[in-house]
Amino acid sequence: MSSYGHYIGGKWIDSEEWIPVYNKYTGEVFARVGKASRETVSRAVDAAPLAFGQKKTGAYERCEILMRAAEIIRQRKEELALTIVREVGKVLKDARAEVDRSVQTLIASAEEAKRLDGSVVPIPMPGADNRLAFTIWVPVGVVGAITPFNFPLNLTLHKVGPAIAAGNAVVLKPARATPVVACKLADILAEAGLPDGILNVVNGSGSETGQYLLEDERIAMFTFTGSPEVGRHIKRVTGIRKVALELGNNSPNIVHRDVPDPDKAAELCVTRGFTNNGQACISVQRIYVHKDIHERFVRKAVEITGSLKVGNPEDPDTDVGPMISEKEAIRAESWILEAVRQGADVACGGKRKGAVLEPTVLTHVRPDMKVVCEEIFAPVVSIIPFDDIDDAIRQANDSKYGLQAGLFTSDLNLAMRAAKELHFGGVIINDASTFRADVMPYGGVKDSGFGKEGPHYAVREMTEERLVVLNLP
Ligand code: NAP
Ligand code: MG
Repeated sequence: MSSYGHYIGGKWIDSEEWIPVYNKYTGEVFARVGKASRETVSRAVDAAPLAFGQKKTGAYERCEILMRAAEIIRQRKEELALTIVREVGKVLKDARAEVDRSVQTLIASAEEAKRLDGSVVPIPMPGADNRLAFTIWVPVGVVGAITPFNFPLNLTLHKVGPAIAAGNAVVLKPARATPVVACKLADILAEAGLPDGILNVVNGSGSETGQYLLEDERIAMFTFTGSPEVGRHIKRVTGIRKVALELGNNSPNIVHRDVPDPDKAAELCVTRGFTNNGQACISVQRIYVHKDIHERFVRKAVEITGSLKVGNPEDPDTDVGPMISEKEAIRAESWILEAVRQGADVACGGKRKGAVLEPTVLTHVRPDMKVVCEEIFAPVVSIIPFDDIDDAIRQANDSKYGLQAGLFTSDLNLAMRAAKELHFGGVIINDASTFRADVMPYGGVKDSGFGKEGPHYAVREMTEERLVVLNLP
């Protein structure tokens, strides 16, 4: 059984208390990680500024280190994918895809280390003669990174990669349910040549270890991905320090009657509602389909959903595996049952066995049902007919969230109008809301948070723009 305490100043240190890590499908304990006390967290932050202040690594070297780490991850793909399968319950094909994406996230971060440019600032004002003004981007110092369970490698790299590229030191607290691959990442970055103390990992729960991290005033900036509830808490307790918050969504997808290929749209919408066992922040959840094609769409969606293989995530053919815990699966099932009591129909799926919830298609839902208005974060989609496209856009916007939305249409004018009217961080035309290329700017509005990820944008969040004025009399 592998065992990871805390990674501080380039060394693994033991923990007084330990947390078991379960295989989410079999329930077996396959690893354990430490549970960091306030003192351990403080030691990790001690190690970080020391690294930041004393071992400055040039931008070229930071790029090389991140590139080498990308190569190591590429070589260890199967092992890392299997770790993700076990600790998340993610099916093997999705776990392999996550590792592939992680390589790209690291490469993009490495490239950004070389692009920390500033700009010349013209100051043609009285009294400012003979002055040259320009900006430089400097690292914020110590970045606190708190990550969710659902993409334990790639979302960790979306924080650690840009933070290192920008020249910061990091203290990372991985999700307690899925910490193993993040601990492996610490070893990988060390092997790639990252100086000691630049990345420190403290394991433990959010309410204890995470909270100690938030309360350490030496941390200049927090980068968080997780639920709106915890995001709100982080914003409250970090005062005037910087935060970037990547939070939830109940992603809408509109399928208009002029969609080029309704069957393909149905396939994309349901399968993208179920990848990562429905636990992605941009998982398709609400599907608004024009009434002219609604019946055909539901038929196709049900046919595809019924053909998915459900069960053991280690089986390379499995499409949908367990959720993160039986408790979460019971919660999602209870939302389905509540919707049914309120008049919804289960067109497909809906049954649960342990942590495995069958991929589920709901119809006859109403806007006030939890399955529609809350983030379900489970393999469950709802198909909702509409008559008028303006009404579909209004319903899509009728949400406290605003991360990404999808629209299927062959009308360019409608696509451009919807791009302006859909109040989301990203609008995806002719693909599902789930589309994400790791280099693109990614982040939400409203309760989906603020601040952008994607290495180019995250580097900006993790640096301070400083103005320099040279007086040249
Ligand atoms: P979560 O429950 O909010 O947890 C996220 C992280 O915050 C975990 O590491 C958690 O620790 C920690 N945490 C909890 N309470 C804390 C506190 N008081 N102080 C500091 N840290 C604390 O989210 P999750 O259940 O892991 O992930 C699901 C959510 O993430 C969904 O809402 C999903 O939409 C969102 N998400 C968003 C994006 C995006 O990019 N926008 C991407 C993926 C997921 P422990 O769990 O270890 O206790
Ligand atoms: Mg949670």
